[in-house]
Amino acid sequence: MKRVILLRFGELYLKGKNRGYFEKVLISNIKLSLKGIECKFYKVTGRYIVSDYDEIDETLIINKLTKVFGLVSLSVAIEVKTDVDAIKDYISSLKIPAKTFRVSVTRADKTFPIQSNIFERELGGLILKNNPSLKVKLKDYETEIVVDIRENGLTYILHDKIECEGGMPLGTAGKGLLLLSGGIDSPVAGYMIAKRGMSITGLHFHSFPYTSEMAKQKVISLAKLISPYCGKIKLYMCPFTKIQEEIHKHCAPEFMITIMRRIMMKIAGKIAIQSGCKAIITGENLGQVASQTVESLTVTNFSQTNVPIFRPLIAFDKKDIINISRKIGTYETSILPYEDCCTVFLPKNPVIKPKLDKVLKEESKLDIKTLVDNAVKNIEIIEC
Ligand code: ATP
Ligand code: MG
Repeated sequence: MKRVILLRFGELYLKGKNRGYFEKVLISNIKLSLKGIECKFYKVTGRYIVSDYDEIDETLIINKLTKVFGLVSLSVAIEVKTDVDAIKDYISSLKIPAKTFRVSVTRADKTFPIQSNIFERELGGLILKNNPSLKVKLKDYETEIVVDIRENGLTYILHDKIECEGGMPLGTAGKGLLLLSGGIDSPVAGYMIAKRGMSITGLHFHSFPYTSEMAKQKVISLAKLISPYCGKIKLYMCPFTKIQEEIHKHCAPEFMITIMRRIMMKIAGKIAIQSGCKAIITGENLGQVASQTVESLTVTNFSQTNVPIFRPLIAFDKKDIINISRKIGTYETSILPYEDCCTVFLPKNPVIKPKLDKVLKEESKLDIKTLVDNAVKNIEIIEC
């Protein structure tokens, strides 16, 4: 008899012919998340098991696994040999801190000699003996004791499911380039797209010396904070000061933000191709600020055609974004008060519904190709 952690995966089942591939990636991601922790990991039909770990590490293991995309839930379970007496012995010893319960037996091993519903009643009776104030309730129970009799000669006894993230295994949907600012939204956008299986490379624009070293460190911290979900992130740090100064000097102030965002996208389009990313991801959100009206987003879209732009947060309320940000642990860092490059040259009255022809006319006052090439040339890469 030993304590193990039993893992369940979900959507993978839907993937027909690709299932083998999805599963291989999931297993490799699970192993990666457990790297450095002594334990065994193996598969029994339809389940994965983590066993032979030091009990001190149990919470840490659970914490790591709940962040692995593709896993739906997990439970701490007791593994016993499939033997009627062994199962009954263990069940008889249970103390259950609840008012109502039920027992559910699943019998993948059809050679097991007792029918599920009969065994459920027998085991329920044993539990009642040891917990006289408990009551059986088949629906709306507080605790469900699951006895999972597998084909491999082993039975797993458990209660309480811990929800995992669900989603698709990281890496099964290619790689995307996340425009990572120091704000609340973009780390959440990265987490959400990673949950659909897309691994992430980061791109940050800084306006040193207008923005500080602390602002840069904040973005590195954010990349590290999402890495339990998104994997280790390669972060491109792109200098943006010269570009902002040039726009500021030559273009009408109301177009500052629009042109900045278009040049950011142009650079992102180039880096995406260079780094094998198949999409650009942003934390943009309809109507949040002047640069995020449908007209602004459209004008931004037209600035590069290399890859599509995904905006996972487009229709979210800010409070829902904040809730996710708290859940994934980025909120406290995101609200640290360091300047972002976007706020440095902020005009008083940015254009809210920019027209492409007017924007192009303003942009023609700049040598965009040289500005973009120089910025790309001076990118610094940080492994977070
Ligand atoms: P906030 O939570 O304050 O809105 P934000 O990160 O969403 O922060 P916005 O000004 O709304 O900031 O920018 C919209 C999107 O543009 C961001 O989500 C991010 O994807 C991208 N972006 C903005 N500034 C930068 C930057 N300095 N570097 C990289 N990407 C940026
Ligand atoms: Mg935002």
